[in-house]
Amino acid sequence: MPKYYCKYCGTSADSIRTLTSVSCTRNPVKGGRHETYEGSEKKQYVCKYCGLSASAISTLTSTKCSRNPKKGHHEPAL
Ligand SMILES: [Zn+2]
Ligand SMILES: [Zn+2]
Repeated sequence: MPKYYCKYCGTSADSIRTLTSVSCTRNPVKGGRHETYEGSEKKQYVCKYCGLSASAISTLTSTKCSRNPKKGHHEPAL
């Protein structure tokens, strides 16, 4: 069964519906919900702003990105 990941925090769910029904603490929009990462599953995820890489979205997005224009966390490129 395919898994869907949130691009802001790496939380996974079996369906987009389930994933996006829960609010995400790392969504730059206050009170926003998880948003589906639309890229494919990878061994390494790279931040689209600064190029930092990590083996999981949850690891990559756990720290702030100095190049994120919204002053948010690292965000995985597709
Ligand atoms: Zn999330
Ligand atoms: Zn970054």
